Amino acid sequence: MCGACLSRRKLLALGAAAGLAGCSENADTGRRQLAFIPDEQLVGMADQAWAQMLAQVRPVRDPAAHARLARIGRPLAEASGRKLAWEFVVLDSPEFNAFVLPNGKVGFFRGLFEFARSDDEIGSVLGHEVGHLVARHPAERVSQELAVKAGVGIAQVLLSGGEGGQGGEAVAAALGLGAMYGVILPYSRKHELEADRIGVALMEKVGQNPRAAVTFWERMIARADAQPKPPEALSTHPADERRLAELRAAVAA
Ligand SMILES: [Zn+2]
Repeated sequence: MCGACLSRRKLLALGAAAGLAGCSENADTGRRQLAFIPDEQLVGMADQAWAQMLAQVRPVRDPAAHARLARIGRPLAEASGRKLAWEFVVLDSPEFNAFVLPNGKVGFFRGLFEFARSDDEIGSVLGHEVGHLVARHPAERVSQELAVKAGVGIAQVLLSGGEGGQGGEAVAAALGLGAMYGVILPYSRKHELEADRIGVALMEKVGQNPRAAVTFWERMIARADAQPKPPEALSTHPADERRLAELRAAVAA
């Protein structure tokens, strides 16, 4: 049961005003979620955030890189059953990170792309990102954000359709993109582990080798240990021993 659903009258009133749904059980994760933002609204927010992202961080010029990313990602997206305008873009930035928006746009930073040694390693990141959408994490995150702020800020943006400026930043932040972008705001550990599990299942479904997820994270950790400052993806996608252990278990299952 989602406590916030019952305790936040204001929020419910707001939800009603915006034509929002409420708590529901997610068949893919088997738990109830506070996710009352309708998909169309999330997609609209994501379209706006994606356009802003592309204005600030350019896609790489190498068409072969995008083609490779799409070739690996598309089967995973299809296997997810989420009918979205999926797009896979390598962004020209040295960061070790990737993200997905609820409109199916996947940004994969060049740093992480070049670090990957195989298609399956790239697939393990993409499976994870697609997994976030299968588990409806963006809807949950935006809903939680709204619950915390009790309808202020983002709610106004949602209700007004939000255009640029501060509103645009609030929308992007709710979707997990920092104000200046390049900064990917973390999902909760629970969300990360769920996305990992779903990612492994998707990889198996499309014939990619999910063991690559384990080796990839092992290498990421080794790299972090070798550096005074951990790469960005490690702080936002915590790659600790528990995560690795759960990944190993999911791959072995
Ligand atoms: Zn993640």
